Amino acid sequence: MSSPEQTLSIIKPDAVERNLSEKIKSIFTKNNLKILESKKLHISKDEAAEFYKVHQSKPFYDQLCNYLSSGPIEVLILEGVNAVLKNRDLMGATDPKNAEEGTIRKLYGVSIDKNSVHGSDSIKNAKVEIDFFFNK
Ligand code: ADP
Ligand code: MG
Repeated sequence: MSSPEQTLSIIKPDAVERNLSEKIKSIFTKNNLKILESKKLHISKDEAAEFYKVHQSKPFYDQLCNYLSSGPIEVLILEGVNAVLKNRDLMGATDPKNAEEGTIRKLYGVSIDKNSVHGSDSIKNAKVEIDFFFNK
């Protein structure tokens, strides 16, 4: 039997700052995503640039890296059936204005950049992103 899927979630600075971490984590656990590991940290701009390098050609890349390194974040390994997709569903659309009712970004997101959470977008990227924060 294959092991349950894992994905990486980041509670971004806007949400940590507003003390929303526990509320966001309870949305994951209520929806059968187990929190295998979690840690709070404050990354440098260089680390944010490495983490987000898939977006390096985008016009918002510099802003994005400044933002992720602007304050404490909490990184989580979530595990469960279809964890990658389930987490993306619970997060909602990138721009909180377009996110469905009940999603984390609809509930807590402030704007397209301050959208409260990150979630891996594929099983392959989940492995890379988990490795980035937990295995080095
Ligand atoms: P998602 O986080 O939903 O996977 P993307 O991978 O497309 O979205 O983008 C990564 C992050 O970059 C988004 O969560 C958001 O914070 C930021 N971002 C995306 N598009 C824009 C934009 N047009 N302007 C500013 N920031 C953006
Ligand atoms: Mg993405």
